[in-house]
Amino acid sequence: MALAAPARRPVVRAPASIGGAVRLRRGDAPAGDAPPHALPVADVFAAFHTSPRGLTGADAASRLASAGPNVIREVHGRPLALRFAANFTHLMALLLWIGGAIAFVARLPQLGVAIWAVNLINGAFSFWQEYKAEKATAALRRLLPRTARVIRDAREQRVPAETLVPGDLLLLEAGDRVSADARLIEDAELQVDQSTLTGESRPTHKVSRPVLETGGARAELPNLVFSGTCVAAGSGRAVVVATGMATEFGRIAHLTQTVGESPSPLQKELANVTRAVSAVAVASGVLFFVLAVALAGVDLAESFVFAMGMIVAFVPEGLLPTVTLALAMAVQRMVRRHALVKRLSAVETLGCTSVICTDKTGTLTQNEMTVRGLWMPAPARDGAPPGRWLTVGGAGYESTGALEQEGAPLATVDGDLALLLAAGALCTNARLLPPNAEACHWTVLGDPTEAALQVVARKGGLDLEQLLAQSPRLAELPFDSQRKRMSTLHALVEGTRRLYVKGAPRELLELCATYRSAGRDVPLDGAVRAAALDANDRFARDGLRLLAVACRDVAAAPGPLDAAAAERDLTLLGLAAMMDPPRPEVEAAVATCHRAGIRVVMITGDYGLTAESVARRIGIVRGDRPRIVTGRELESLDDDGLRSALAGEVLFARVSPEHKLRIVAALQAQGHVVAVTGDGVNDAPALKKADIGVAMGVAGTDVAKEAADMVLTDDNFASIVSAVEEGRAVYANVKKFICYIFTSNTPEAIPFVLFALSRGRIPLALTVMQILSIDLGTDMVPALALGAEPAEPGVMDRPPRRPDQHVITPALMRRAYLWLGGVQSLAAMTAFYFHFWVSGYWGQWFDLPASGSLYASATAMTLGAVVTTQIGNLFAQRTESASFFKTSLFANRLLWFGIASELVVVAAVIYAPPLQWVFGTAPFAPAHWLFLFAWTPALVLVDEVRKALVRRAERAMTRVPKGVTP
Ligand code: ATP
Repeated sequence: MALAAPARRPVVRAPASIGGAVRLRRGDAPAGDAPPHALPVADVFAAFHTSPRGLTGADAASRLASAGPNVIREVHGRPLALRFAANFTHLMALLLWIGGAIAFVARLPQLGVAIWAVNLINGAFSFWQEYKAEKATAALRRLLPRTARVIRDAREQRVPAETLVPGDLLLLEAGDRVSADARLIEDAELQVDQSTLTGESRPTHKVSRPVLETGGARAELPNLVFSGTCVAAGSGRAVVVATGMATEFGRIAHLTQTVGESPSPLQKELANVTRAVSAVAVASGVLFFVLAVALAGVDLAESFVFAMGMIVAFVPEGLLPTVTLALAMAVQRMVRRHALVKRLSAVETLGCTSVICTDKTGTLTQNEMTVRGLWMPAPARDGAPPGRWLTVGGAGYESTGALEQEGAPLATVDGDLALLLAAGALCTNARLLPPNAEACHWTVLGDPTEAALQVVARKGGLDLEQLLAQSPRLAELPFDSQRKRMSTLHALVEGTRRLYVKGAPRELLELCATYRSAGRDVPLDGAVRAAALDANDRFARDGLRLLAVACRDVAAAPGPLDAAAAERDLTLLGLAAMMDPPRPEVEAAVATCHRAGIRVVMITGDYGLTAESVARRIGIVRGDRPRIVTGRELESLDDDGLRSALAGEVLFARVSPEHKLRIVAALQAQGHVVAVTGDGVNDAPALKKADIGVAMGVAGTDVAKEAADMVLTDDNFASIVSAVEEGRAVYANVKKFICYIFTSNTPEAIPFVLFALSRGRIPLALTVMQILSIDLGTDMVPALALGAEPAEPGVMDRPPRRPDQHVITPALMRRAYLWLGGVQSLAAMTAFYFHFWVSGYWGQWFDLPASGSLYASATAMTLGAVVTTQIGNLFAQRTESASFFKTSLFANRLLWFGIASELVVVAAVIYAPPLQWVFGTAPFAPAHWLFLFAWTPALVLVDEVRKALVRRAERAMTRVPKGVTP
């Protein structure tokens, strides 16, 4: 609890608790002991040696040097050494340590060393992958720099949040994240969401008057705002009192930072798969051990070697870190395509997205407004409908371009038109910036809609500076997406005041009682009202965005401006119709969505007909009569009504952000995976509710960016589609490398099976050590390279994946173990026999030598065949159903690096004498490599057959039966 302080002026002091306390200059007044919340505003300035003009740049710099940057120091959850050690102490690793130890005890030192080496290599590799993935995601945070608006050197500036210092004068408005603890000195209906600090989800009202503490929590003090909280509504100014670790948030940071990212569904599934496969591997190892001893009569030590070999070979320990790294690499690729993903799991969800709910202005369109037409009310004359139509020439924000009426340039701007133009321009906050070093054309600071109104006023010969000097602004009722209008109050020369209002035409027209014609206010009759609505719809059908402009003379009234009381009995001045061209790349992106089975639903605050026209132009709407559901209508629809609206072609217009939540929930209830865009503070609930909340990086508020899973750095719809494509690609890539590493398990297992079935008469074609050299040597880098594959052609020609679909499917297992694994086994066994047959054992199947250099080089041939066929497999895996011949061989350079690494490892294992000793190999004639490489294309070609069959089945599924219209 906090109470208003009594009028007594407490002693002034810079509180000791502030982050890097303000260094008082020599000669400063001695400090008292009142905390900032108890000080009157003037004393707050004094205490922090600042003023309403803010700090000077030099002062801010020197304070930054002494107070340090405004950052929360990262508290690492677990020390690096512990995380490194964890990779060597999980269950599977422990089993391998024990297995290795048993091997030593059983006097099999080679195997013992190998198993331990495998464990070490594997652990180190896993740690490296984890570390890289973590670094990649941490780097993302730096790409979304936090900024704050301050007054410094008496000018409003946007500065990096980490450069805020105690004494800075902070400007706050709805949607801003508060970047430091600060004492309010001005408030306008300010509400702050402090849930990050207090858990309280309802916004807290904040005021600037001094208060006395009565023992409650600091966060309850109503005149302090805290770092890490967000402005939910209203605006204010505040003096920074603490930064960095001295803030309330800094104090509790160690509590929040240790909460890590929870594993994604894919990571969880793969952890389960790893466990299941490990269990099967251990069970079959044990079974094999029993069978080898009991059936084949193999001695105990040798059986143990085999059993350990099976276990080590088939346990996919590397799977999880490889997936994590693949996800992280996908995130990095997405950044290059302007989509910044904040959670790894969002990458997967993107791949399942089946509906994208998008707003219009700025996302589908360029948000570059140019007024193209004006309409002004006028009584009907000579049978012509009431009203005047004007066209406006010119492009962009340059003020060249003529106003024309009935095809001829206007000779003079009459009083009515001048008032319309002046009202439109005065009721704005945007700033036009002339060409400068950064841009060679006129640009806008603020709302482009408002800039367009200033530009048309200039085209009519008005000077905004002069207008403001003649009738200075007294107050403002800011635009909000609920009222859909904005008003400003101005002083007139005669001592009266005038309210200028601009906003959504239909809604504004309801507030108008008169219209201006020939300098007089005329009652707004039905005919002129109908003509205004007709003009509105005619402009809107051309895709133009509309604003109505009105005014009212008001008597000087005491007290603050109230929207309901002020915005009534208005005089209609006219309509301004502005063009906002669609972004050029959006049409193709929408077409991609249609091909990819993704529905695009437009949810806009704009007028229905404008929205429909734009939607039609870019292909979102294709039918003759789409249903346009307005916000008002939506409120009257029950859940069934909304469901049936969503069943057909629909777009939502004149909706407020609050309505989005309902639409998203309804789509999710139908089983859709929904991505939704948003930029305002009120969009946050819908962004959180959506499976993928997408915030605008340029036009979005901090609150929206915080609530979102993905931030678009270019605010462009097309970037969402690119991100979906990457999401699909990464999932496909995970499947690719799982399929790749599973394939070689078959030729690894077959020699053991033949050995057991023949009761040892077919010697083991591949030894345990050689299996290890494949799984933990030659296969490693190529598998990783598959994680970096670009999306395969046609990835956006299929419907989205169902979120409950598993990554490891029966089809994947058939492809890996039977189809490709079968061919590989054939190659491997053929290579083994080939070597014996050309070395004097022609045609002999059984009882071949099982030791000696001939045997060693025959097993090296088997090893070589697995490697050369895995190279073919690598190319086959690059696509799941698209033809290999449609892929670019050089799109993924990592792949070639993978092949090179594979060849170096296998050459070392076969030709380097120390490794020959470890892996039991011996060299074979170099010409034999020709035989081995002849098998490489076999894998590609065999898989081509399967792919052709899959494509045929896919085509049959998507073919529309005769007589059915799509
Ligand atoms: P989207 O929701 O697709 O981004 P939008 O920008 O039209 O579309 P809002 O910003 O909610 O949605 O605006 C709703 C309506 O309010 C606009 O169609 C326009 O008529 C009116 N409007 C927009 N900006 C202003 C403004 N600065 N001042 C007054 N009225 C405005």
